[in-house]
Amino acid sequence: MPIYTFYCEKCSHYFEKSRPMAEAERSQHCPLCQCIAQRDYASDNIRIAEGPKTLGSLADKNASKFGSEQKKELQDSLIHRKKNESKN
Ligand SMILES: [Zn+2]
Repeated sequence: MPIYTFYCEKCSHYFEKSRPMAEAERSQHCPLCQCIAQRDYASDNIRIAEGPKTLGSLADKNASKFGSEQKKELQDSLIHRKKNESKN
Protein backbone atom coordinates (compact mmCIF):
# COMPACT_ATOMS: atom_id res chain seq x y z
CA MET A 1 0.00 0.00 0.00
CA PRO A 2 1.42 3.42 -0.92
CA ILE A 3 2.27 5.87 1.85
CA TYR A 4 0.91 9.39 1.57
CA THR A 5 1.95 12.54 3.38
CA PHE A 6 -0.65 14.74 5.06
CA TYR A 7 -0.47 18.20 6.53
CA CYS A 8 -2.70 19.54 9.32
CA GLU A 9 -3.17 23.29 9.02
CA LYS A 10 -4.62 23.47 12.53
CA CYS A 11 -1.46 22.40 14.37
CA SER A 12 1.08 22.52 11.49
CA HIS A 13 1.79 18.82 11.80
CA TYR A 14 3.01 16.58 9.00
CA PHE A 15 2.34 12.84 9.15
CA GLU A 16 2.31 9.82 6.89
CA LYS A 17 -0.41 7.27 6.35
CA SER A 18 -0.56 4.20 4.16
CA ARG A 19 -3.85 3.62 2.40
CA PRO A 20 -5.20 2.09 -0.80
CA MET A 21 -4.47 4.13 -3.91
CA ALA A 22 -8.20 4.45 -4.55
CA GLU A 23 -8.52 6.42 -1.31
CA ALA A 24 -5.47 8.62 -1.90
CA GLU A 25 -7.50 11.79 -2.39
CA ARG A 26 -9.59 11.33 0.73
CA SER A 27 -8.79 13.58 3.67
CA GLN A 28 -7.26 12.15 6.83
CA HIS A 29 -7.75 13.03 10.49
CA CYS A 30 -4.71 14.54 12.19
CA PRO A 31 -3.38 12.19 14.90
CA LEU A 32 -2.67 15.13 17.20
CA CYS A 33 -5.79 17.31 17.09
CA GLN A 34 -8.22 15.06 15.14
CA CYS A 35 -8.90 17.85 12.63
CA ILE A 36 -9.08 17.16 8.92
CA ALA A 37 -5.61 17.16 7.37
CA GLN A 38 -4.93 17.53 3.65
CA ARG A 39 -2.59 15.69 1.31
CA ASP A 40 0.83 17.30 1.12
CA TYR A 41 1.81 16.78 -2.48
CA ALA A 42 5.20 18.49 -2.11
CA SER A 43 6.31 15.91 0.45
CA ASP A 44 5.16 13.08 -1.79
CA ASN A 45 7.55 14.42 -4.44
CA ILE A 46 10.38 14.51 -1.89
CA ARG A 47 9.72 10.87 -1.04
CA ILE A 48 10.03 9.84 -4.68
CA ALA A 49 13.16 11.93 -5.22
CA GLU A 50 15.05 11.10 -2.03
CA GLY A 51 13.58 7.83 -0.81
CA PRO A 52 14.54 6.98 2.77
CA LYS A 53 15.58 10.55 3.56
CA THR A 54 11.90 11.46 3.81
CA LEU A 55 11.88 10.84 7.56
CA GLY A 56 14.51 13.52 8.05
CA SER A 57 12.72 16.04 5.88
CA LEU A 58 9.48 15.37 7.75
CA ALA A 59 11.20 16.02 11.07
CA ASP A 60 12.64 19.18 9.60
CA LYS A 61 9.19 20.36 8.53
CA ASN A 62 7.68 19.58 11.90
CA ALA A 63 10.52 21.50 13.53
CA SER A 64 9.37 24.70 11.81
CA LYS A 65 6.76 25.17 14.52
CA PHE A 66 9.46 25.27 17.20
CA GLY A 67 11.72 28.19 18.03
CA SER A 68 14.94 28.65 16.08
CA GLU A 69 17.02 27.26 18.97
CA GLN A 70 15.09 23.99 19.09
CA LYS A 71 15.14 23.76 15.32
CA LYS A 72 18.92 24.10 15.25
CA GLU A 73 19.19 21.42 17.92
CA LEU A 74 17.07 19.05 15.86
CA GLN A 75 19.07 19.75 12.72
CA ASP A 76 22.31 19.16 14.59
CA SER A 77 21.05 15.81 15.84
CA LEU A 78 19.98 14.85 12.32
CA ILE A 79 23.41 15.77 10.94
CA HIS A 80 25.05 13.83 13.77
CA ARG A 81 22.91 10.80 12.97
CA LYS A 82 23.86 10.96 9.29
CA LYS A 83 27.57 11.09 10.20
CA ASN A 84 27.17 7.98 12.33
CA GLU A 85 25.38 6.19 9.52
CA SER A 86 28.15 7.00 7.05
CA LYS A 87 30.72 5.28 9.30
CA ASN A 88 29.12 1.89 8.67
ZN1 LIG B 1 -3.61 18.68 13.83
